[in-house]
Amino acid sequence: MEEIISRKISAISPSSTLAITARVKQMKQQGIDVVNLGAGEPDFDTPYYIKEEAKKAIDEGFTKYTPVSGIKELKEAIGRKFKKDNNLGYSCQEILISCGAKHAIFNAILTLCNEGDEVILPSPYWVSYREMIKIAGAKPVIIKTTYEDDFKISPQQLQEAITPKTKLLILNTPSNPTGMVYTKDELLSLSNILVEKGIFCLSDEVYEKIIYDGEKHVSIASLGSKIKELTIVVNGVSKSYSMTGWRIGYAGGPKKIIQAMSNLQSHSTSNPTSISQKAALAALEGCQKAVEGMVKDFRERRDYIVERINSLRKLFCVKPKGAFYVFANISALLGRRFKDKVINDALSFSQFLLEEAKVAVIPGNAFGDSSYIRISYATSLENLRKGMERIEMFLDKIS
Ligand code: PLP
Repeated sequence: MEEIISRKISAISPSSTLAITARVKQMKQQGIDVVNLGAGEPDFDTPYYIKEEAKKAIDEGFTKYTPVSGIKELKEAIGRKFKKDNNLGYSCQEILISCGAKHAIFNAILTLCNEGDEVILPSPYWVSYREMIKIAGAKPVIIKTTYEDDFKISPQQLQEAITPKTKLLILNTPSNPTGMVYTKDELLSLSNILVEKGIFCLSDEVYEKIIYDGEKHVSIASLGSKIKELTIVVNGVSKSYSMTGWRIGYAGGPKKIIQAMSNLQSHSTSNPTSISQKAALAALEGCQKAVEGMVKDFRERRDYIVERINSLRKLFCVKPKGAFYVFANISALLGRRFKDKVINDALSFSQFLLEEAKVAVIPGNAFGDSSYIRISYATSLENLRKGMERIEMFLDKIS
């Protein structure tokens, strides 16, 4: 009998976070007090003035199809944002609004990659890139980065990974899961290679606003007209404005590519939700104080969790410069025992931690490194304290 599921879709790896998330849900339904340090979204409510604009949009009947690539007012606001924050000039024809940054990334990868093309993906990586590359029929070429090199790829590593089949490099700064941030000089070195070889860059900048200690986010596209012609910058309102459920992301890039992405979008989702577009307009154009407030809270939590993890001795992590995750190394625990079971990798560690200590974290397997766990600090300090106390007690039981 012929297989029901297509070869392309069968090849997509099931998310290794899924088992943990499903179990957390089940435990919560059973009334078990689980501390969830796995969240990939800010725990704050969407700011009031943004919600008000959405309500107004509904009341005024702004509930019909919009142009596929988004409404003009929002594109203009995104254009102003690119200019102000990133020193990037994009016209409305060089901007596409999609159903979340994830959708913008999907459109870009599908638009650029042919069957057999190679896409360079620094690891640890956000889990969806790899699967999207595979869906496009392209091949992910992983460059492994480590704690020692601050989880950043070097120009030499990039040079070595390039072959005649290389089409695209995916960059994510600030990074999920490591929280590292590339400096302008580092980006310049990478951009020189991309320009020389004519390789495209997908720059995922969704954590741009969540950045600490005076660190400055730089968009690789802003480093010269040649690299701008090769780059698709992706951003969105999910993380910066705590709007994950509204599903608005966007891309800026060369007109020809943006138009082709828009063409693809026209045959899949059409426009992103009309009401959410009005809400995103309010987010981008409104007072930015709420963003500053969130970042201040994130910083306080980061300082707490990093100190606490590094005081445990059995775990260690770098201090993240952006986003809201710490990527903690668990190598010291691999091969050791919890009760009668061996801790083989981050997945088994995370499962034992959840069952025994009732703390949920995301195993690094999902991000390409199974000797790490990702702890999200997008939760209250109280929850973080509770979670860390439980983790500490759990570590004491490992022999
Ligand atoms: N890129 C990265 C690195 C992310 O972590 C996420 C969400 O977790 C996204 C993109 C997708 O964001 P959105 O909610 O806008 O689709």
